[in-house]
Amino acid sequence: MPDQTAPTGRPYTPIRTNPDGSRTGVIKRMCSGCGRDLGDVTMQEIQDAIDGKPLSDTRAECGCADTSRDVPAVADV
Ligand SMILES: [Zn+2]
Repeated sequence: MPDQTAPTGRPYTPIRTNPDGSRTGVIKRMCSGCGRDLGDVTMQEIQDAIDGKPLSDTRAECGCADTSRDVPAVADV
């Protein structure tokens, strides 16, 4: 169970070292805008990955970008 919270409000489960020396952790979600570690991945994000869907846009959750005025990645010429 997570015993920490990331600044985004997501649970943040630290990597634990087991008695046999192996390590156990929870996959972390990186921001789709800046790559920052946002905390533990959600079950929905895992399911989307299994289903082959693109990862959700986390820039608003991260706070690294104003998504209200998105611009196309490639400009028309
Ligand atoms: Zn970000």
